[in-house]
Amino acid sequence: MTNKKAATQVEALPDETCVLVIGYGPVGAALAALLGRYQVNTLVVDKEEDILLMPRAIALDNEALRILQMAGLDEDAFDRIGIPEVKMHCPYLGHYGQVNTSGSIDGHPKLVTFYQPDLERALRLQAERHACVSFRPGYELIDFEQLEQDVLATLRDTSGVLHQVQARYLVGADGASSLVRTLIGQDFQGQTYAEDWLIVDACQRENRSIDHVEFNCNPVRPAPHMPAPGGRERWEFMLQPGETREEMETPEKLAELLAPWISADELVIERKAIYRFHARCCNRFQKGRVFLVGDAAHVTPPFVGQGLVAGLRDVANLGWKLAWVLKGYATPRLLDSYDQERRPHAKKMIELAKLMGHLVMPRKAAAAVAVHGAMRVARWVPPMRRYLEELKIKPPNRFSKGFFVEGRRWRGELKRGGQIPQDFVRQGPRICMSDDVLGDQFTLVGFGIDPTSLLDADTQARWQALNGHFVQIGMRGQNPASETTFAEDLSDKLVPGIPRGWVAVVRPDRVIMHDGPAGQVLKMVNECMQMLA
Ligand SMILES: Cc1cc2nc3c(=O)[nH]c(=O)nc-3n(C[C@H](O)[C@H](O)[C@H](O)COP(=O)(O)OP(=O)(O)OC[C@H]3O[C@@H](n4cnc5c(N)ncnc54)[C@H](O)[C@@H]3O)c2cc1C
Repeated sequence: MTNKKAATQVEALPDETCVLVIGYGPVGAALAALLGRYQVNTLVVDKEEDILLMPRAIALDNEALRILQMAGLDEDAFDRIGIPEVKMHCPYLGHYGQVNTSGSIDGHPKLVTFYQPDLERALRLQAERHACVSFRPGYELIDFEQLEQDVLATLRDTSGVLHQVQARYLVGADGASSLVRTLIGQDFQGQTYAEDWLIVDACQRENRSIDHVEFNCNPVRPAPHMPAPGGRERWEFMLQPGETREEMETPEKLAELLAPWISADELVIERKAIYRFHARCCNRFQKGRVFLVGDAAHVTPPFVGQGLVAGLRDVANLGWKLAWVLKGYATPRLLDSYDQERRPHAKKMIELAKLMGHLVMPRKAAAAVAVHGAMRVARWVPPMRRYLEELKIKPPNRFSKGFFVEGRRWRGELKRGGQIPQDFVRQGPRICMSDDVLGDQFTLVGFGIDPTSLLDADTQARWQALNGHFVQIGMRGQNPASETTFAEDLSDKLVPGIPRGWVAVVRPDRVIMHDGPAGQVLKMVNECMQMLA
């Protein structure tokens, strides 16, 4: 094996790295961008040279946008369209349901559509801004061996030459057919749908496309339909039994399918593909020094637009943990909490997608009338209406077990194992999002109180040695009274109802690890430091 021989074909590989990421799809790229922020030496390889242009993810929610913010993407890094509502139509009952997606949560729109290749380009650009991140296209993982302190990966370049890279940790972001998953002995558990779906993206639809998402729930041929940036519009058509891929992709068939929306002479197809959807998850997202993220760990039908979002949640959770362990701020035990925290939620999202598939797109006319009729009636019952229309049906991303101090000190929006809310704040002359003040570290946040005023110098120094810092969030009009980083809560909504003097420990992924009244802050900080060390 030699790295030199292949250097004429593809850029040579380093012999070693801290984290080796297999796969530079959106999830691998987001992980690389995060690891770059945490200054972790990272090598990403992909067997392909270029970004995949197939029609895939189109919708992202506020949680995904918050993670992209954490990875360093500005709001204008890629185009998006805010979606005000999702409407559901039944051929027998007409408009029978809707989901209100206008407005924002944690400073981000509840739902946007986007163009996946643009997002992937933006993520790669962001990752490669960090000198500690490098990407090598044209290298395919073919095997690895877990050693006591490292993982030894074998990669094949495009001319068939084998190379070895030694990494402290290896992350499989290698998509639904993941070899990493196979090599750690994990099978996908779950369901493969018998139906195939045709995905069609039309372009040149400027000012003519719809501005919302529609589910046309005709049991004969369900067809979700939505706009996307750049004058694009997407339709998804379920294939009927006996229809072949070949006949569905002919220009004549496409024109026939799209005739209710676009006439054949103004139809410009940009991309199309047929997929079979899966609802599957593996039993463990980790084995030793090897981790699975994104589609390598779980796949879901796209009925609630959560496949990529779940992958982004994975890397937000795993990225800082790898960094903290590699930099010696935490023991490797921290890494066990990745599977513990992420797998239950990924499974809940798969279940939600399956449920929505059954509710929104039943396959028989009688079932459609019954289910859609029941959903229409449910809108008249306020709790059901909130559940269905205000997205309460979506499982909150809050852990019941994991790397936080369990306890019952929950205060309104501040919940241990859940995320700290985000809103706009003023920091000196600049107005920004509160996460940008929290930064990439562990943060001891004091609400209306300077948290350093509660701690002796020795504890402060030990906290900072674990890459912890201090932030005071002041109420509207309050001024900083010390050198501690200060942010003024402009909306008074950041943490509604929080008593002055409350303190919280927030992880780099914005999860609340501990909280309590000012009088307990020393105990809280010590408990958190003990867990890390
Ligand atoms: C029709 C459709 C609609 C969707 N809609 C949505 C949506 O609206 N919202 C949403 O959140 N999600 C949606 N998804 C899901 C989303 O597209 C995927 O979850 C996401 O693209 C997965 O990203 P990934 O990085 O995990 O995997 P991939 O994007 O599959 O990337 C894996 C990468 O690994 C590389 N690779 C594989 N094996 C190796 C190897 N051995 N060595 C080196 N490299 C390797 C591949 O070349 C590839 O670049 C949709 C999917 C489909 C198909």
